[in-house]
Parts: sequence; structure tokens; C-alpha cells
Amino acid sequence: MTSVTAYAAPSEAAPLEKTTIERRDLGPHDVLIDVAFAGICHSDIHTVRGDWGPQQYPLAPGHEITGTVAAVGSEVTRHAVGDRVGVGCMVNSCGECRQCRRGEEQFCENGATMTYGAVDRDGTITQGGYSQQVVVTESFVLRIPDALALDVAAPLLCAGITTYSPLRHWKVGEGSRVAVVGLGGLGHMGVQIAHALGAEVTVLSQTLGKKDDGLRLGADHYYATRDEETFRTLRKSFDVILNTVSAPIDLRAYLGLVDIDGAIVCVGAPPEPLALTVGSLIGGRRSVAGSNIGGIRETQEMLDFCAEHGIAAEIEVIPASDINEAYERVLASDVRYRFVIDASTLDA
Ligand code: NAP
Ligand code: ZN
Repeated sequence: MTSVTAYAAPSEAAPLEKTTIERRDLGPHDVLIDVAFAGICHSDIHTVRGDWGPQQYPLAPGHEITGTVAAVGSEVTRHAVGDRVGVGCMVNSCGECRQCRRGEEQFCENGATMTYGAVDRDGTITQGGYSQQVVVTESFVLRIPDALALDVAAPLLCAGITTYSPLRHWKVGEGSRVAVVGLGGLGHMGVQIAHALGAEVTVLSQTLGKKDDGLRLGADHYYATRDEETFRTLRKSFDVILNTVSAPIDLRAYLGLVDIDGAIVCVGAPPEPLALTVGSLIGGRRSVAGSNIGGIRETQEMLDFCAEHGIAAEIEVIPASDINEAYERVLASDVRYRFVIDASTLDA
């Protein structure tokens, strides 16, 4: 075991603080990664604050990890020392069930091992990327294409795949009319990816405050959802609405914006239920759907797609000492558009 510096939440209500965590010795298929950057996902905040249920503390979050390979186990073939790599929301799965065999490890029937806060194979609780090093089994380590810098690539490991996967699943492409609700970490990736896929993209944000950014990121239109007129103007305007909001939204109002046969796909994951009237579905053969990150193969496909299309996250790099302040800004929707922790500052 090796001790490394990390930032962890000591309890549900307390701010994150500097601590040390243990990393296991390398098994034959393990990769040791020197973490360079770790993005701050809203899920980190939901999790450490207990929004999704009780956790074991201390808990170091972080599932948008990039860095370089520092060492490999004796049987590792996919990665070599010095490679630029990434780790997302999962660090293992059974590899044998129907879902793992079709490359949808996030739906592993035996439960994928999430990057932090999950019970690992050895019974320990996984600890995430707000740390100097991480040990991950080789098949869950992604290649970062040369065209992507490690800092702007980090958020792709969650925000990128969580928006890419449903846009592909719902066959967004040339001619699709897509709305992205919420221009935060996920939303700003969703806009760029939907645009690169050829869709006509509309941002639905609470206000027009980030309109210039939205249009620069590739949106064709931008509307404020606090303006009730928006819901009249845009009636039946979209084939797919990607909802990235971290709080409950009025699903019935948004379903009015979905055209016949369209769908609203929820990736935002507030703990509260969303109210739905069946009439707003059957009145337009509409669907309400959800999506959960994406499999490892698709995550690599997304990284390659982003490199090819010159897409990456827009980030604010922060020292580890600013994590708690960054959390408050994320909660206040004051993020443009992802905070990324510079791991070299963890020990400062
Ligand atoms: P984020 O950066 O905080 O972005 C969320 C955006 O939602 C905000 O920027 C804001 O956009 C909008 N918003 C926030 N509160 C709102 C409210 N009360 N009413 C209306 N709009 C509001 O968060 P994120 O990291 O993108 O994550 C978003 C959600 O996705 C979180 O719930 C997270 O846990 C979840 N998530 C799910 C998956 C998955 O696999 N399904 C993966 C990652 C994250 P505007 O300022 O533009 O309105
Ligand atoms: Zn995330």
C-alpha cells in the first residue's frame, strides 16, 4: 500500500480537507496513474453531501481524472509507462454479464465499481481522483488523444460521455433539433457535441446571462426558461431535449416543447422525483428517458470524436485549496464551465 495526499469530505456536512488515503499495490492487470487533473462534477457534490444516500467517510470524490502512467502490473498490455490516460466514473465491473459483454459496463448486472464511494473487490471503499495517484485495472483506463491537453480533457471523462452517449443513442445528427437544458458542466459539452453531430442546437438556460458563450460553443438559439414566453414560442420545437439540470424541473412544461415522437432525456440527477402527466406523453407519442454515463468502448469513441472535432471542456483550473469555494459556485450555477483541480497543488 502507498499513502497519497487527497482532498476528502470528512462527513456529509463538513467541507473537504486535505488528508492521506491508501492506494493498493499493483496487481498484474493494474495501472498506477500520476493524477494531473481532476474535474469537479456536480455528482461529486450530490454524493459527498448525501443527496443520493448515506456514504462512508472520509470520502475523496473525483471521477474526471487525467494523468500519466507511472507504473504497470506484470500482465498489462494496453498501457505503458508515460502514456497519457484518463479514468471516468467506473473502475471495474464483472466483465462477464450480458451488459458487460455488450460494452455497457455502467449497467453491469453485478454492479459496476464506481470510482469513489463504492465497495471495491477487496472490500475497501473506492476513493476518487482528488488525489495524487490512483490505481485502476487496465481495461478501465482510457487513452487521451494527443490533440487533447490533459486539463481540458478531464471533464470529458464524465461530462463528455454523459452527453455523448444519449445523443448517439437517440440518433442525433444532421437535421435533428436538439435542446440542451442547463449550461453547466454537462450542458456545455452537450451543446458542443450535438453541434458537431450536425444538429440544430438550442440552449435553454435560466437566464440569457451566458448567451454569448452558448452561441460560441455552437448553439444556434438561446432562450431563458425564467421567461414564460419561451414555453409558448418553442412549443413542439424539438426532437430531443437533453436535460442536464441538477435540480427538479417542470417536466410537463418541457414536454410541451417536444415534437411528436420526440424525447426528453434526463441526465441531471436530482434526488427529488419529477411529476409527469401521461397526457403529455400520449398526446405526442413522446418519451421520457434517462441515461447513465456510457460504456468504456463508447467513452474512448467520445474522446477520439472530441479530438477529431476540436472539442474540449472550457475550464477554470483551481488549486486544491479552492475546492470548497468551487463547490459553492457550482451550487450557485456560477461555473464556466467546469472547475478542474490541478493535482500538483494537493500537497501545497
Ligand atoms: P452543473 O455544472 O452545476 O450544471 C447544472 C446546470 O443546471 C447549471 O449550470 C444551471 O444551468 C442549471 N440549473 C441548476 N440549478 C437549477 C435550477 N434550480 N433550475 C433550473 N436550472 C438549474 O452540474 P453538472 O456537473 O453539469 O451536472 C448536472 C447534473 O447531472 C447533476 O445532477 C449531476 O449529478 C448529473 N450527472 C448525471 C450523470 C449521469 O450519468 N446521468 C453524469 C454526471 C452528472 P443554467 O445556469 O444554464 O440554467
Ligand atoms: Zn460526473
